[in-house]
Amino acid sequence: MKILVINCGSSSLKYQLFNMRLKNLLAKGLIERIGRKGCLCHYHPQGRLEIEEKKRVTTYKAAIKVMIKFLTSEQHGVIKSVKEIKAIGHRVVHGGEKFTASIIINKTVKKNIKEYARLAPLHNSHNLEGILASESLFPRIPQVAVFDTAFHQTIPPYAYLYGLPMELYRKDKVRRYGFHGTSHKFISLRTAELLKKPLNTLKLISCHLGNGCSMTAIKDGKSIDTSMGLTPLEGLIMGTRCGDIDPGVIFYLMEKERLGLKKINRLLNEKSGLLGLSDISNDMRDIYKASIEGNEQAELALKIFVYRIKKYIGSYAAVMDGLNVLIFTAGIGENQEKIRELICKNMDFLGIKIDKGKNEAGFPRERIISSPDSKVIVLVVPTNEELRIAQETFELVKS
Ligand code: ADP
Repeated sequence: MKILVINCGSSSLKYQLFNMRLKNLLAKGLIERIGRKGCLCHYHPQGRLEIEEKKRVTTYKAAIKVMIKFLTSEQHGVIKSVKEIKAIGHRVVHGGEKFTASIIINKTVKKNIKEYARLAPLHNSHNLEGILASESLFPRIPQVAVFDTAFHQTIPPYAYLYGLPMELYRKDKVRRYGFHGTSHKFISLRTAELLKKPLNTLKLISCHLGNGCSMTAIKDGKSIDTSMGLTPLEGLIMGTRCGDIDPGVIFYLMEKERLGLKKINRLLNEKSGLLGLSDISNDMRDIYKASIEGNEQAELALKIFVYRIKKYIGSYAAVMDGLNVLIFTAGIGENQEKIRELICKNMDFLGIKIDKGKNEAGFPRERIISSPDSKVIVLVVPTNEELRIAQETFELVKS
């Protein structure tokens, strides 16, 4: 069975096609700058060279047509006809409180996704547009919604409620939802497989450190707390997002710098985090390079990034009454050994000890990096959200 995964962002469409029987990726690609100047279409059939074409693509529907052309092309295609695709899994960012698992899309599901666009205006509306375009081009196959928030729906009320008037939760649904759920779920399942231990016997902390960063405490296979909140702004220091701050900062700046809502929003989402702290870049590679070249501001940005992660490890170990496994994933988590080393430094009191050699080896990509006498197993597990989306889609449609 072949399953297509589609992820529509504000001006891009990412896609991957999987063969579920062999559990392998057949092709993937990206159509970027949809509706803008310089639209670029990428297509990468597995084991062959990537193709890049400049095209004018103005809608998601047109982007899907380009994707179909690539996938079925005589020269570079991986399938003969789109009829081979048996289902499509869509990444949907916000599923509110309604969706605790993936679901086959129908009218009501689409209505709910639209409703939750209130909570994720930058994401859900594009996700929905992608679904509608895909339905019009693939009218006969099931389309499945896989929500970033669903995995976190097991978080108990005492962890998801903010210290705000209860009425705001009842009326406006203000609470912690958490994001990157598909990645945290994939990581936890894969970890249990790698360690050959039942997931429901483990207390895990997964650190998804990419451009966006979040951490999740996973106990008995369930998310019991996570660092992102009502929006993906809360928690860790990220590429351009500030993470936890005193909400009072906002009122202070609105008055002192005369900033309106839009500007504050941009400041916290796009100009803060590693970029704002370092004045160099949102990319950890640049900051790390600058720090070893002696740039003190870059060094401090790095320290703040690491410090925040350490604080979350401590608090999640406390709320889980212990810790068995610590996992690093995503761009920084998978590739920046120095960051992992700094995070785990002086953590023996919690049972965390990493092996310098294994941490720096970089190979295999999926590996244990703790020393044999470390009570907590520390792992690097590359995330694969698209594969998880394909698996969830497959589970739902195979029956
Ligand atoms: P996104 O959240 O956009 O998917 P990624 O998971 O690709 O982002 O993570 C981006 C971050 O990962 C950047 O800060 C970048 O510096 C870091 N990163 C990605 N690849 C590497 C690499 N090969 N070596 C070091 N750092 C990397």
